[in-house]
Amino acid sequence: MMLGVLLARAGVDAIVLEKYPDFYRDFRGDTVHPSTLELLYELGWLDDFLALPHNEFQTASAMIAGEPVRVADLRYLRTHCKFVALMPQWDFLNFLAERGRRYPTFHLMMSTQGAGLIEAQDRVSGARATNTVGEIEIAAKLVVGADGRHSTIRALAGFEVDDLGAPMDVLWMRIPKHPDDPTRQLGWVRTGHMVILLDRGDYWQCAYLIPKGSFAQLRAKGIDALQQELAQTVPPLRDRVSELDDWSKVAMLDVRVDRLERWHRPGLLCIGDAAHAMSPIGGIGINLAIQDAVATANVLAAPLRAGAVPTEADLQRIQDRRMFPTKVTQAFQTFVQDRAIDPLMQGAPVTSPPLLARLFDEFPLLRRLPARLIGIGVRPEHVHTPDAFGPAPSRASISR
Ligand SMILES: Cc1cc2nc3c(=O)[nH]c(=O)nc-3n(C[C@H](O)[C@H](O)[C@H](O)COP(=O)(O)OP(=O)(O)OC[C@H]3O[C@@H](n4cnc5c(N)ncnc54)[C@H](O)[C@@H]3O)c2cc1C
Repeated sequence: MMLGVLLARAGVDAIVLEKYPDFYRDFRGDTVHPSTLELLYELGWLDDFLALPHNEFQTASAMIAGEPVRVADLRYLRTHCKFVALMPQWDFLNFLAERGRRYPTFHLMMSTQGAGLIEAQDRVSGARATNTVGEIEIAAKLVVGADGRHSTIRALAGFEVDDLGAPMDVLWMRIPKHPDDPTRQLGWVRTGHMVILLDRGDYWQCAYLIPKGSFAQLRAKGIDALQQELAQTVPPLRDRVSELDDWSKVAMLDVRVDRLERWHRPGLLCIGDAAHAMSPIGGIGINLAIQDAVATANVLAAPLRAGAVPTEADLQRIQDRRMFPTKVTQAFQTFVQDRAIDPLMQGAPVTSPPLLARLFDEFPLLRRLPARLIGIGVRPEHVHTPDAFGPAPSRASISR
């Protein structure tokens, strides 16, 4: 969505296809990081965005084996927003769609599924899609696969995928929130179990990590078993886990970490999870996908606006620019998966917070490192594309 909006804003005819009729699905993750908030500031949209209902956190803590540890502090970041905004993805996506619709060059086609690539003279020259009317063909100077970790477009393109693996899957569910609930702890860890709680105002969006491929086993034990495991891992919620009385209230999200060795071929480019599926570790994936979109628009808006067809060199420039942050971020995610999550999922005893967590808790300066890596990331992008329809974006300063 971000790429479509930026290209349209720059005066390029951009068509965004979304296979579902709306965005009201319990997407993965709500975390809008300072790097993304900075982009919204550069576009002059930050005030409007923050006017939408959302929660914010400036520091992150966890409860490990019953001991609270502070792990990240975003208050020292050199960004306009020194916090993570928690907003359901459907609100964020609808916000971007509304911004896009301000431009005559923005075309969002919902309920339209990309299903095929049109090829001519050894290059991709468009896409086939199906919608409620039937099959349509769209000719395009460039087709971008931004269709997520189960990408149809990357499969159609025959791109090679390097699977980095993940030792866990995630159960996604909602649990009512009470006013006196502890709000400081984002993560709750005990031997064999880990829960992440995202504050959605009147309920917790709850992510429960389970060993990879073990959902059927847990289901066979019954919903009571899940209730008990949650109550033991997050004791403050034990008085309402019974509300999770049916498996239809639990979504299983398979975690994948992978990346394409090559993100493009003539007429086609993959970005976001379609180019590199991200683990939920650090809640970075959305923000990295948006960074890809900004880098792509920065390189392609001018040639596309001038009517040129993007060259392989253009597309390689985008991959070269984004591959480094992708590799570093995935290296961090797989390091945490291998050193912390995997042993945990295997049942390694957790009797106290590990040394690294204790060091973060002890030394405030150290807590700035995860804040920097996760909050801003490696090689943050900035908006260099113009608004072809309006005045230059305002730089009204926001101090928080
Ligand atoms: C369990 C879990 C929790 C996560 N939590 C977080 C978090 O807290 N914070 C965070 O930043 N990241 C999180 N992530 C990662 C994050 O969700 C992804 O990295 C991010 O959503 C990638 O964005 P994207 O736009 O590339 O793909 P997606 O968000 O997957 O969007 C792809 C879109 O394409 C549509 N689509 C798919 N196929 C087609 C088709 N053929 N035609 C048309 N449309 C199509 C889909 O409906 C979807 O709307 C999590 C991941 C998992 C698995």
